[in-house]
Amino acid sequence: MPQLLGATEIRRLAEEIGIRPTKTLGQNFVIDGNTIRRIVSAAHLDPDETVLEVGPGLGSLTLGLLDAAARVVAVEIDPVLAAKLPQTIAAFRPQLAANLDVVLSDAMRITELPAQPTALVANLPYNVAVPVVLHLLEHFPSLRHGLVMVQDEVADRLAAPPGSKTYGVPSVKAAWYASTRKAGVIGMNVFWPAPKISSGLVSFTRREPPITRASRKQVFAVIDAAFAQRRKTLRAALAGWAEGGAKAEQYLLAANVDPSARGEVIDIAAFSCIAEARLDALA
Ligand code: SAM
Repeated sequence: MPQLLGATEIRRLAEEIGIRPTKTLGQNFVIDGNTIRRIVSAAHLDPDETVLEVGPGLGSLTLGLLDAAARVVAVEIDPVLAAKLPQTIAAFRPQLAANLDVVLSDAMRITELPAQPTALVANLPYNVAVPVVLHLLEHFPSLRHGLVMVQDEVADRLAAPPGSKTYGVPSVKAAWYASTRKAGVIGMNVFWPAPKISSGLVSFTRREPPITRASRKQVFAVIDAAFAQRRKTLRAALAGWAEGGAKAEQYLLAANVDPSARGEVIDIAAFSCIAEARLDALA
């Protein structure tokens, strides 16, 4: 079985480049080969796929991805880590080194990559996990599916169905692009440094967005308004967005949504209908 990086290798690599993992960049490196194998297996990659990895860090997951896919495009924001990665891959997988592209960039800003990725597989920096996933789904329609590791609580939110306690903005916005599913929980001691909370795996499969004449931006504006005041009824929560409670009620009724319901019980299709009802009324 090809070698993956354990605690000894990770510490040695970190020492070689003199880095101290920072919290601001969510730098918690995986030091356990079994966790990498679990992530790669849960990602269900075809051997001909191009994988986008965000935040390759010291290369723990990159090695596992190179073993399973045709190509890996790794986007790393930290210049020291980005510079070291090709050397690490050349040392541990010389025969696969040509299959890796390293892009030094902020994953929240990228709109172009050296190859069209078909899958996103990443141990994401926790503080920006949701915006990164939404940004990539928006800008890279070639992404068909993915598996991301995020804070366990965020994993629950991303995968939550309408009506559940954790359903909120990340769940509905992710549902615009994809169907999501929680794919497991990962303990803290497989990382260096160990985070204070567990991590969760979320897998997603892209699907067509709801059929609507409203744009994604218009639908997302309704979602933001509905959850900004989560405890309120939709009639009250959408009053600002609709320019009045009466208008909010009118749009909700036209969309077949109960004005006394809360945002947390309606799905992405219903949010799209509400946005569309307003467009129709203003036409
Ligand atoms: N994939 C590695 C692993 O599993 O060991 C490292 C994962 S670590 C949780 C997150 C990585 O994302 C770090 O390498 C960090 O420098 C990088 N990072 C943080 N913010 C980023 C951003 N906005 N764009 C790209 N990479 C980022």
